Order: sequence, then structure tokens, then C-alpha cells
Amino acid sequence: MDSQPTAMTDGLHLVADALKINGIDTVYGVIGIPVTDLARVIQEDGIRFYGFRHEQSAGNAAAIAGFLTQKPGICMTVSAPGFLNGLVALANATTNCFPMVLISGSSERHIVDLEQGDFEEMDQMAAAKSFAKASYRVNRIEDIGVGIARAIHAACAGRPGGVYLDLPAAVLGSVLELGVAKKSLIKAVEPSPASIPSAESVTRALNLLSKAEKPLILLGKGAAYAQADKDIRAFVEKTGIPYLPMSMAKGLLPDDHPQSAAAARSFVLKNADVVMLVGARLNWLLSHGKPPTWNPDTRFIQVDIAAHEIDSNRPIEAPVVADIKSAMAAFLAAMKPGQVKASAAWVGAVTEQKQKNVEKMAARLNADPTPMNFSSALRAVRNALASRPDVYVVNDGANTLDFGRNILDMKEPRHRLDSGTWGAMGINMGYSIGAAVVSNKPVVVIAGDSAFGFCGMEIETICRYKLPVTTVIFNNNGIYRGDKPDTFPPTPTGLYQNARYDKMIEAFGGVGVHVERSADLQKAVSDGIASGKPTLINAAIDPTAGTESGHITNLNPKSTLVS
Ligand code: ADP
Ligand code: MG
Repeated sequence: MDSQPTAMTDGLHLVADALKINGIDTVYGVIGIPVTDLARVIQEDGIRFYGFRHEQSAGNAAAIAGFLTQKPGICMTVSAPGFLNGLVALANATTNCFPMVLISGSSERHIVDLEQGDFEEMDQMAAAKSFAKASYRVNRIEDIGVGIARAIHAACAGRPGGVYLDLPAAVLGSVLELGVAKKSLIKAVEPSPASIPSAESVTRALNLLSKAEKPLILLGKGAAYAQADKDIRAFVEKTGIPYLPMSMAKGLLPDDHPQSAAAARSFVLKNADVVMLVGARLNWLLSHGKPPTWNPDTRFIQVDIAAHEIDSNRPIEAPVVADIKSAMAAFLAAMKPGQVKASAAWVGAVTEQKQKNVEKMAARLNADPTPMNFSSALRAVRNALASRPDVYVVNDGANTLDFGRNILDMKEPRHRLDSGTWGAMGINMGYSIGAAVVSNKPVVVIAGDSAFGFCGMEIETICRYKLPVTTVIFNNNGIYRGDKPDTFPPTPTGLYQNARYDKMIEAFGGVGVHVERSADLQKAVSDGIASGKPTLINAAIDPTAGTESGHITNLNPKSTLVS
């Protein structure tokens, strides 16, 4: 008598099962050898697969999905070149503290390791190590479950970051008995465990804050990631302390909140005597906490999940090593009524400075020049967004980013997504797709023509998946600024003059609009949001508008010998 054939499974199905059991519902990637069938199996298994045109954008979509959901975003690529394209996004995710897993297929191990010359040969696991929080390889089909679980834990635990997981073709193609395979799967339990602050650190921080005469709370994107919005707002409002949001922390409290010191940024950084950093690093974006931007006598509290971040740039008198959700709850519980209260004199001084700066900015912001400049175009976008606080804003570029940070107001947490810690250009299409996919909400991209160029082909991806993304290109004919008319050959900063990027999207059935006036831009953005259709607005900006290197010209070495 014939015995029943043993039920078998393969590596491809096991990867899909391992992702599913861990609640992963979306994968972003580009298919090819050896992951084409993996994407197919994943899709058949009910996981959404978003296919991109370039792995960097797929990785950026995964990374921003990780930031928005606290679940690692998954990017899938082919071997060597595809892997390397994705690696930029993985490194960017690690730098920005976004949880992400890059899964790449790889070639034959025995050939790669002896450098015998395989198709897309590369030791990807070793290559990824210096750019990721962790880098693993699965060498046996029965270890797929362990590999996925470890990758998820590593991406989410403590300070989040990017993790690489190498899946050799041979492992994907292997077979295993179904019963054994099922048992090999692992559901990662509590991959982002709470990190409770010590009572001592909480007391120390509150004591220092209560002695301050000019306190300041500085909110960073770690605070946005933590999803502790209610407690952060309660703490800010109970203490009455002015707060300054870093760009991706805008909207944690609405930008028009009376305690926002955003319009008096230089003033508060220079004058505050005690600064409480909440999920923000004292890196280049904060002038490393050093004079002349900062007061040399400022005393610091730092709330951060990464203990090794403490004292990285300035001495931290009161470190609170914890996750921000636990830390804010602990502060609120431990704070005695009236213990910490910003003085009326300090609050008044900040408010006065704010008013002065707002008045100074008003003239520039209300002007309506032809052609448009960065300020007048951003005002138009701001007006279009005013009635739609639910819209996600992705901001990328140099001048477009610098001006956008100040001009675009946010009302909701985690709705502003931008170049972040590296100042990376070209995140715009990937971030917009990731945000649209996880939120189901409209997204407006505001990107310079140069920033769009790094990833513009993904406009096809947006059209193919019918995503509600309105892309506004601030087109000033160049990187930083454009050349004089008819300059040939173009200078290193010049791009094609008067390009019509709006025509690109029409090739894929999307809506293209060309605008030259701010009123038309405002209408086009409103229409794009309302339609929910993929839209690309080519906004012609004065080619002479824009500063070389934006607001960080000081970082760009200049030759005195070049005219
Ligand atoms: P920004 O650029 O907005 O100033 P950074 O990216 O420099 O913000 O800093 C974010 C900080 O937040 C990092 O030091 C990171 O360790 C920390 N962080 C991330 N997630 C959490 C969390 N859940 N709880 C506490 N700190 C966190
Ligand atoms: Mg430009």
C-alpha cells in the first residue's frame, strides 16, 4: 500500500509565512533574479506588494512606513546592484532611526565566497554591516523563521534602524517538510519593548527644570516616532514652557500653538538656560549645541532611548534614558502641581521676539512677484493645505526644503516628512508612496527640480497604483538655481531650461499642470488633493531665486580661483 506523500513547502513560501505571522502586510521592492517568485508568492499570500522602478525609492518607502507605523518597513531587492541601490535607503533609515528591513536575494554562496565570478556576485551581508544596525544571512531553509524574527527585533528594539537580511537563491529554492517548516516560524513578541526611566533620572530632570529661568523644550523626530502625542502636549501645556519642534516634529503640537517658539528659533537657542531635548540629537541640524548659536552656559536634560547618545556633543546634566512614551508618562506622574512653571517674563520675551520675526517675514511672504520665488510659491501651497491638516507633506530639495520648513505649518503629528538627519536628496517619491500606502490619505510632495530628478521615474509607480499623490516641482531650472537663458554648455548647477515636468506624468495617465502664478499654483494643489488622482504640478520659479547650498552655504568649500 502506498503511503501518503509528505506535504512539503519551499523557502519562498516560508519567507511569506514568516512575514505574515509577524503582522507584515506590505512589501516594497523591485523584482528580478532570485526574488521574482518571492514577490508573487508574497502577493498570493495576501501581503501587498508595491513594485518600484528603483530600489532606493522602494527602500525609502519602506523606511518612512516604518517611521509612521512603528513596524519595520520591508524592502525587497535582487542581488548585488539591486541590493546596493537599496543600501542607500537602508543607511538613511539607520541614520534617521527608522525601523526597516532590507531583504535581498543573493547568488551562489560557494561561488561568491571563492570569488569565482557568479551572476551579480557580492558578499552582501559583509557589505551591509557598516550601513545597518545589524546584518544577517540565512544559510538553511529551516532558519528562515529565525532570520525574519531576528531582523524584526533588531530593527525595532531600542533606537530603531535599518537591518539587512540576506537570502541566498539556494535557500529560497530549498524544500522542507511542511510540519517542520511550520514549527520553524517565530512570531517576534514585543519587538519594541518599553524602556522605563529610573525614578532618579526623572527626579533629577524635574529638579533641573524647576530651577530654570528660561527653559526650553526641544522636540525631535524621536518624539514624533514615539506616538506619545497626548502626554507630550500635556507636559508642554502644564509647564507652560516654550517648545521648539525640529522639522519632522512639527505638528506634534499644532504650529499655531501659543507656546511654539519656532518663529523665535535663534532667540531661544541663544537665551535658554535649561534645554530639555526630547528625541532630538545635538547634531549639525542643531549646530552641535555649540556657541555662537547656543548659550555656552546652557544646561541640558536629554530624553532618549539610546544611552550612548548622551554627552555626544555637550555635557548632559540630566539624562533620562527611556522610551519617550514611558518618560513623558513618568514626568507627568512625578511632577508636583506648580513644580515646573515657565516664568511670565521669559514667555513674554519669547512671544515678543516671535511677533517681531513674523512681522519681518510678512513682507517677503506676502509679496507676489512674477516669476514666483520660493516664498510666494510656498505661500500658495500653504494656503491650499490650510483646510486639509490630514494631508501628508513630503518636502525635499535645498532651498525648497529650507524655506518649506519655515513656511509650511503643520497641525497633525507625523505629517511632515523630509530629508532628515542626512539632508538626503531624492527621498520625495519613496516617502510619498510609503505615506500614501500606510495612511490612505492624500500626500503633497514639494520638491525642487533637482531633488525630483533623483527619483522622478517613480511617478509611473504612483500612477500604476493610482495613489493620491500631488507632486509640486519647484522648477528653477537648476540645482540651487538656474543658468542665464541660453547658457551652453550648461554650468554644473544648471538643469534643462524651462523643462515641462508636468508632461512626464501625462505619459502614464496622470494629471499634469503647468503654473507660473501663485494663485494658479494654490488652485492646482487644492484640485490635486480634492481629485485624489496622481497629479504633477510644474511650478515655474525664478531661475535666479535660490542660494547655492541653501541655508548651509558655510559647509561648501569655495575656491577663490574659480569665477
Ligand atoms: P531630529 O532630527 O528631529 O532632531 P534626531 O533624529 O536627531 O531628531 O533624534 C531622534 C532621537 O530620538 C534619536 O537619538 C533616537 O535615539 C531617539 N528615539 C527614537 N525613538 C525613540 C523612542 N521611542 N523613545 C525615545 N527616544 C527615541
Ligand atoms: Mg532647482
